[in-house]
Amino acid sequence: MGISSKLAEVRKAIAECEKEAERAQDSVTLIAVSKTFDADVIRKALEAGQRVFGENKVQEAKGKWPELRDEFEGVELHLIGPLQSNKAKDAVALFDVIHSVDRKKIARTIRLEMEKQSRQVDLFVQINTGSEPQKAGILPEEADDFLGFCKVELGLTIRGLMCIPPADDNPKAHFKLLRKIAKRNDIKDLSMGMSADYGEAIKQGSTFVRVGSAIFGHRKKPVSI
Ligand SMILES: *Cc1c(COP(=O)(O)O)cnc(C)c1O
Repeated sequence: MGISSKLAEVRKAIAECEKEAERAQDSVTLIAVSKTFDADVIRKALEAGQRVFGENKVQEAKGKWPELRDEFEGVELHLIGPLQSNKAKDAVALFDVIHSVDRKKIARTIRLEMEKQSRQVDLFVQINTGSEPQKAGILPEEADDFLGFCKVELGLTIRGLMCIPPADDNPKAHFKLLRKIAKRNDIKDLSMGMSADYGEAIKQGSTFVRVGSAIFGHRKKPVSI
């Protein structure tokens, strides 16, 4: 099956999940995760009308997206991978949304860069809902403090929360936890759900699903997330 058919399938499944969960049509935004795929492959998704894309590495995105943006109007690019401070300048220049704010230093650096570049980027804070030592993200018990810091100390508006549940856990409890943290902090958007579990994520209130392999197929290069 080609990319445009797979894209259509995912869109249809999302619409069905919205309906089943009694949620408004188009309340879920599909982020097509194009990491590791070349511009030629991504172009097929763009030609099929997809405009919202996710990448997990600043350098890789910088190599393919300026050119694709010249070719197609209305692209919205989301950074979904960890961000190093020395890449913050490029990230703020290139991306429209950053999902991986996960420590004070990077929040501060992003704010400075937005000021310097007079550019507004929407921000999500990543929560390590499974408290996994190897995974990025703020621990659930530290989330309220961190969100308070962003708001009060930095004057940053946090648009949403993001999580990547542990690979071999049932994701449902993690999605519920993310929603609970968002609710008590008055945060509207939830970035949760990937190819394997976006249906469940939509049931639990996700507003952004990050779907890669169900659209583009298997990634050849291994990526750690
Ligand atoms: C790669 C990646 C995805 C997409 O994963 P699939 O299982 O291919 O849908 C989603 N979120 C993040 C943070 C990723 O790095």
